[in-house]
Amino acid sequence: MSGTRPGQRAVETLDRLVAWPTVSDQPVLEMAAGLAQRAEDAGFAVERFAVDAGKVNVLCRRGPRSSDRSKGLVLSGHMDVVPVEGQNWSSDPFKLSQRGDRLHGRGTCDMKGFIAATLEACDRIKGEALARELVLLWTCDEEVGCRGSAALPGQLAEADADPLPFATVIGEPTDFRICRLHPGHATWRIRCFGRAAHSSRPSLGLSAIKLATRVLLALEELEETLAADRRFEGDLPSPWPVLNTAILRGGTAVNIVPDHCEIRVGVRPLPGQPVAEIGALLADHVAALHTAAEAQGGAIRLELLSSCPSLLTDAGCAHLPLLLPWAPDSRPTGAPFATDGGNLAALGCEPLIFGPGSIDLAHRPDEYLLLADLHRAVDAITDLATRACLPAR
Ligand SMILES: [Zn+2]
Repeated sequence: MSGTRPGQRAVETLDRLVAWPTVSDQPVLEMAAGLAQRAEDAGFAVERFAVDAGKVNVLCRRGPRSSDRSKGLVLSGHMDVVPVEGQNWSSDPFKLSQRGDRLHGRGTCDMKGFIAATLEACDRIKGEALARELVLLWTCDEEVGCRGSAALPGQLAEADADPLPFATVIGEPTDFRICRLHPGHATWRIRCFGRAAHSSRPSLGLSAIKLATRVLLALEELEETLAADRRFEGDLPSPWPVLNTAILRGGTAVNIVPDHCEIRVGVRPLPGQPVAEIGALLADHVAALHTAAEAQGGAIRLELLSSCPSLLTDAGCAHLPLLLPWAPDSRPTGAPFATDGGNLAALGCEPLIFGPGSIDLAHRPDEYLLLADLHRAVDAITDLATRACLPAR
């Protein structure tokens, strides 16, 4: 891109990233290949770790590796984006559209803007010799339960990879606030089984939907119990394990007593609250309903479908001060949403969540990143990488 203004290059990179429609149910290989090529051009050694068909994590390393993990820096983000179906976009979501000071497109904010800014920052320090290792880690399937990062500990162990530096920044949209903690997320399926019958003879059947209504009430009760367990007040907008009864599906025809109804529940456990503990509470709340259903030939079954760990990084971690000049607030806080951070912490990394854009604009139609925030992210990441990885001047 010689001849292009440096600031414009980040916009052009973001344009390319947005054009890869990496919705989580689609392959991510093309984008991964593009990011790998870009990193190799900037002097990184690249390894790809297959997670699933069409899914891969990309690990790019540059500079001297050290057994002393307190040296160096990891910059991480996810390549996938959420779907656009059913959303009313003013322009093609997979084509970057600049309107005034806004860059619209799926993933601009969450979180291809951070990836574009990081690539630009790496180009800026391309010619410099690194004193400490700089690592780029691009994951897949974050939006569907952090599945890419969950596979990483096993993948790195199998490849006998050198350990990653402790200092880790995940560029989720926090409006440049430094977040050191966040809840996890766990999804349960609750299946209510009844007995089908002709609707003119309801006494011959058992309505799974009626069973489900009782489960819904029990879930509401549990929601209240959980809301009383407050932790990290001042750091999270809802400082308790938030429960969301998200999906309800049941019945087949208006003249059949329904024999099946399914509920999906998402819970966001806070740091220090094992998913198993929440699962046990859930089981307690539906146990009596199951017993009653069983007596009538029905059942209520609970199943944990997925879970992604919470994050709690020490406020005294060594790389936090490096972000302070770029943060609107010197006090680190919490992010209300889950990230790859919990899984990276399992690798011994100390993730901080810090990136351009607002989570309030993510996942929505006409998602956008401010042009000024993209430029600011390039400057912030260049400064961070310089201070973490370049020789002291
Ligand atoms: Zn994200």
